[in-house]
Amino acid sequence: MKAPINEIFSSIQGEGILIGHRQIFLRFSGCDLNCEYCDTPHNNYTEISLEEIVRLILNLETEIKHQAISFTGGEPLLYNDFIKELILILKQKTELKFYLETGGHRPDKLIDIINYIDYVSFDLKLPSILKSKDLWEEHKEFIKIINNANKASYAKIVIEEKSTYEEIIKACKLLENYNNIELVLQPVYSNYPCPLSHILKIEKLCSEILGRARIRVIPQIHRILGIR
Ligand code: SF4
Repeated sequence: MKAPINEIFSSIQGEGILIGHRQIFLRFSGCDLNCEYCDTPHNNYTEISLEEIVRLILNLETEIKHQAISFTGGEPLLYNDFIKELILILKQKTELKFYLETGGHRPDKLIDIINYIDYVSFDLKLPSILKSKDLWEEHKEFIKIINNANKASYAKIVIEEKSTYEEIIKACKLLENYNNIELVLQPVYSNYPCPLSHILKIEKLCSEILGRARIRVIPQIHRILGIR
């Protein structure tokens, strides 16, 4: 069994509820979305076998213990069979936890893998950054599956200057009845940063719907540190 891999490396988790933890990152190539801010090099990958990935992970784990392995992309849910096999092997050989970073738009795939995963980081994609149709229905189903499985999770919204209050409200409403799911507002990392006044207005709006305790504004710290 093989999968297209962009990169595998050890670093610090730069986003969300596990921010700051030392993790192994396994970045799968390929995505079925097309976000405006995407910086993943989708065409730069190598087909690597399951056995080889296990060997590379165990090498990294021998050098230093990691808190978890992060399945990222691209869209890792496109490679469920590979990930499930990998998890079964790693559970026998390591104490790693399993962290899924996903676009949050493939409930059909999530339901197949949710019981293998320890933490889920999922996006709520705002229509203003998508080059395709909106994903509200897909996100709604995705959230239901996470809630039913009672997984540690958080939702992330990447915010830009053009993010509208209307779409932010719609995204928050999806989470309104799921008190265990926190929301991270992540200002986009680009040459055109989101103005602080806009970030703070969005934070206020979200906290009015979900309660301030559930909202955090967290930039990507790995970018600030200048690491992968
Ligand atoms: S979901 Fe992620 S990998 Fe896919 S296009 Fe959007 S930013 Fe890129």
